Amino acid sequence: MPILDAHTLEFFSRSPEQTRRVGMRLGGTLHAGDVVCLQGDLGAGKTTFVQGLAQGWGSLDLVSSPTFILVNIYRRADAKQLFHLDAYRLDSVPEAEELDLESMLEQGPLVIEWPERMGSLIPTNKLWVHFDYMSDEHRQMVFKASGKHYDSLLNEIRRTMFGAS
Ligand code: ADP
Ligand code: MG
Repeated sequence: MPILDAHTLEFFSRSPEQTRRVGMRLGGTLHAGDVVCLQGDLGAGKTTFVQGLAQGWGSLDLVSSPTFILVNIYRRADAKQLFHLDAYRLDSVPEAEELDLESMLEQGPLVIEWPERMGSLIPTNKLWVHFDYMSDEHRQMVFKASGKHYDSLLNEIRRTMFGAS
């Protein structure tokens, strides 16, 4: 994995399983208050990534695309919660303002698909992952950390994936 700079990490996935595995690594590092934004076109692999992420975080719940309800909640044996928000169907930023991100973040990590539709509601400090479709089974993922906390989170992922920091 090439390191572009201290805040960025690039990964090339060759299968949905591999994307889930990377999600698992990240999920294992997440705690209440953590924000992970997943940007990319339909079919880029965001929800596939969340499947691994929820599993790595410790939930046995089934991950699906939040549809009519915007937010899915996955639970863990210790009663903690992981929030999975899909802003695809949001019509406007004012509508997004109805979502109480703060109270979600008090209770667990928050993963957001289509974060670009939430405008400035997205916290300044976060981990941002950009997914790009390369070919049928190939996706490029670029992780960008904003804030010291997410820099160390990114380092932790680097370490668990490649045994080096
Ligand atoms: P999104 O949530 O970004 O719209 P999904 O995760 O729902 O995307 O769908 C991605 C689709 O692409 C799935 O059908 C998945 O099996 C397929 N796919 C093929 N290769 C990959 C890959 N390397 N990573 C993630 N998904 C992949
Ligand atoms: Mg999706």
